[in-house]
Amino acid sequence: MDAEIIASGTELLMGETQDTNSSFLSSHLPSVGLQVRKITIIGDDFQEYSEALHKAWEKSSFVFTTGGLGPTKDDLTREAIADLVNEKPSVNEEQLKILKRFFSARNSDMPDTNIKQSWLIPSSTAIRNPNGTAPGWWVEKNNKFVIAMPGPPRELYPMWENEIKPKLLSLLDNEVVMTKSYKTIGLSEARIDEMASPILGSENPYVGIYAKEDGIHIRAIAKAKDQNKALDILKNIDNKVEHIFGSYVWGTDDELPEESLLKLLLSKKKTLGLMESCTAGTIANKITNIDGSSNSLHGGLVSYSDATKIQFGINEDSITKFTSISEQVCREMAIKAKDIFNADYGIATTGIAGNQQIEDIIPGTVFIGIADNSKVKVSKHLFPSNNRNAVKNRASTMAILSLIDFISENI
Ligand code: ATP
Repeated sequence: MDAEIIASGTELLMGETQDTNSSFLSSHLPSVGLQVRKITIIGDDFQEYSEALHKAWEKSSFVFTTGGLGPTKDDLTREAIADLVNEKPSVNEEQLKILKRFFSARNSDMPDTNIKQSWLIPSSTAIRNPNGTAPGWWVEKNNKFVIAMPGPPRELYPMWENEIKPKLLSLLDNEVVMTKSYKTIGLSEARIDEMASPILGSENPYVGIYAKEDGIHIRAIAKAKDQNKALDILKNIDNKVEHIFGSYVWGTDDELPEESLLKLLLSKKKTLGLMESCTAGTIANKITNIDGSSNSLHGGLVSYSDATKIQFGINEDSITKFTSISEQVCREMAIKAKDIFNADYGIATTGIAGNQQIEDIIPGTVFIGIADNSKVKVSKHLFPSNNRNAVKNRASTMAILSLIDFISENI
């Protein structure tokens, strides 16, 4: 069955806020049997909203809206839906009570402007929103549905998971689509394609290969009458992927490289030290975003200038002879990263995150070094160099994946 998404908010059109709600919804709707056929972004303009809503309602059985449920004049979702189904909104006493409770629990008076958040129309029921003041609207008329959700992702995600998804699952007797991504390291796209040949080519599950920022992903898409059957299909693929790729798969779905690395380090009771030049603390930041990182990460040093590198033990002659952006210096840095922090492994990065060439080294060039007590491995990478932050991000992701690869190779 077809679905459309309308994301509203002038800030989305200005590029100030990225429309992550639509990405979230379009990746989750197939799991309840709905295929997204169109996503529309509109500003806070009643005419535009109304037009988009009429068109979507004409073409699709389900329309999902995000944003515009706030209390202010430019929050127009309720008005546009009421206009669509030709009904008048009015205050719902039950919703008003919930709203007043929300404010009194925070020791504040409810401004009158918020009253419109207690509106309903005859065709709508309120969708609970324990994380904000705006309830969603579930509208059903002539076998068509509009489901209105608030804009803030921290309100929308739980509303989807706890309220909307279960309702849709019981309502729809459709084919369910479920996906699983396997994230790999250490193999080229062509090699993965070759190895995956026994699982490629079938329609259900459909298996595809995609190059992403954190490596190459193998994605399986399963279709079935219900979730359990789709899960069975994915479980079957799990076994095949495990058999073919083994430790080349470092994680699945939303798993982050740093999460997988930390799991691996903790399971082996191993520790880590960092010496970061071009990534300037980004690796440390990623790892310390994960609970339990203090049990493994001993410390990190941002050795940004040549003088600091020398101060912390990198050979001045190596820098003079090879420059600080070189395999030789990166090798020394990886060993120092391990030794300075008295750790089992060291990670080092050195490269050019900006877009200025240094001598004959191309911008975006990054060396990543990994060391343990018996071995050092340095790899050279070239990342697209139009954005310093993107280079730092990619290089730090690659450095984390390189250590996973290094540990897996040495098991
Ligand atoms: P509120 O009650 O907070 O006003 P609302 O339902 O009216 O909620 P908006 O005012 O449209 O929602 O958006 C509130 C905030 O939610 C935005 O400032 C933005 O940070 C976030 N937001 C809105 N729409 C989206 C979207 N499509 N994707 C990601 N974030 C969004």
